[in-house]
Amino acid sequence: MSARLLLLLGAPGAGKGTQAVRLAKDLGIPQISTGEMLRGAVSADSEVGRLARGYMDRGELVPDSVVIEVAEQRLKQPDAQGGFVLDGFPRTLAQARALDAILERLGGPLQRCVALTVEEDVVVERLLKRAESGVRGDDNEETIRTRMGVYRRQTEPLLDYYRGSGILVEVDGDGGIDEVAKRIREALAD
Ligand code: AMP
Repeated sequence: MSARLLLLLGAPGAGKGTQAVRLAKDLGIPQISTGEMLRGAVSADSEVGRLARGYMDRGELVPDSVVIEVAEQRLKQPDAQGGFVLDGFPRTLAQARALDAILERLGGPLQRCVALTVEEDVVVERLLKRAESGVRGDDNEETIRTRMGVYRRQTEPLLDYYRGSGILVEVDGDGGIDEVAKRIREALAD
């Protein structure tokens, strides 16, 4: 498998975070999650954190300009020059276009977009279970509903965007962690 400039796309709760960490570890490249970076910014009470907090609490998208800047700074770091697994960015068409422009400057286009497909009732159930553990403040029923709507309206169109550029691979995300990880590796090997 040679593709190393990768994006994992999927609905909230589709397992993309778990799979992105795993894939990045297997390939020895960083996993880049704008959600994690934004949560860090909120904890640090930085300017970006103060800007992002309200949107995140409501389950809405943080404005494109803020997220694009955060992602660009991260993608420029030395450890990302040999590849990366993007997780949770881009989430809008404007972000996808901005990413293309950033990568053009950094030396290479995205090579694969792995879309994890899972039925909506399965992901909602997973998120409600995660909510019980109380790990994340934005895992409550109302916010989960908002995040699913945001995904359908704003992020799902990216499937067509990446299908159009010929780099989309769709992987069934329903199953155990190992099973889905294996499917991803196989899809990337094709
Ligand atoms: P995640 O950890 O990827 O589920 O992201 C958690 C929250 O961070 C999202 O619900 C958004 O409020 C915000 N966020 C993360 N990534 C993005 C992005 N690419 N665009 C806009 N908002 C984002």
